Amino acid sequence: MRTKRFFRQAGGFALAALLVFSANAQAAACRNPNLDVVVLGSGGPELDDNRASVGYLVRENGRAAVLVDFGSGTSLNFERAGAKIEDLQAVLLSQFHVDHVNDFPALVKGAFFTRRNRDLPVYGPSGNHSVPALPQYLARLIGSKGAYAYLSGFLDGGESFRLKPVTVAADAAHPKVFAASEGGFRISAVPVTHSIIPALGWRVEKDGCAVVFSSGTSNMGRTLDKIAADADLLVAHNAIPEGSTDRVALKLHMMPSEIGRIAAAAHAKSVVLSHFMNRTENVMRETAAAIGSRYKGKLNFARDCDIYAVHSGEKIGSCLH
Ligand SMILES: [Zn+2]
Repeated sequence: MRTKRFFRQAGGFALAALLVFSANAQAAACRNPNLDVVVLGSGGPELDDNRASVGYLVRENGRAAVLVDFGSGTSLNFERAGAKIEDLQAVLLSQFHVDHVNDFPALVKGAFFTRRNRDLPVYGPSGNHSVPALPQYLARLIGSKGAYAYLSGFLDGGESFRLKPVTVAADAAHPKVFAASEGGFRISAVPVTHSIIPALGWRVEKDGCAVVFSSGTSNMGRTLDKIAADADLLVAHNAIPEGSTDRVALKLHMMPSEIGRIAAAAHAKSVVLSHFMNRTENVMRETAAAIGSRYKGKLNFARDCDIYAVHSGEKIGSCLH
């Protein structure tokens, strides 16, 4: 009898411990089913791949919230997604290669025809000897002496709202994690290695849900790992095939096995591959195998306009139809 009672009590303890444990696990879990990510572009710089260059839109309840990069062709998919510039809480730029930012001036000019009157924070990398820092980049584009000087009111205040540049240190030799919050979203960045180009990986979080964007990186120094933990969606760039021997490309991009390593180490719930190039387009089976040798979670190969739910990591639609 006494033994039975002991077991009943011990069982009670175990149950209580389990409840506490699952409450903690739940605290870390994604609690917002209304967040999704639209892939505005899933290609790289090539113009013969039938894909827009990279860009992503994090939305809540179908409304635009955080824009991450805005490469060539993404402005059209922004429209197709029904996104409104008025709704944007922040723009996060990962680097100043053309395929990541080419449509940015189009966003600024497009804003002229909207009712937006709230300043728009634009986060982007610091510069170095070969690439301008965010404020210089913006000044050279839309400053009073820039190529599109007629848009300078969006920097100096002559228009109905201003872009508010926030420069984030992007030296991968000093990979300090940056954090901020905008419109209820927690935003973090870490410098990532992209040859000599200053570049940032980004993490966007709300209600325990996290989306991590690798940007272009070789992940030398494994700095991306610092912001990847427990990502519900890890959007990783697949610009080189497994076994690549292209020394220039290897300094810029990571192989699929490295994507698998990060995803496994981070316990990512779902991986979405993007930034395909002709050299990765036709080897998706090999890519899946190289990633799968290290990571057993969900793996998706993005197409332009794909929409992924953050809490499930599943594709839930497309902005093409
Ligand atoms: Zn790129």
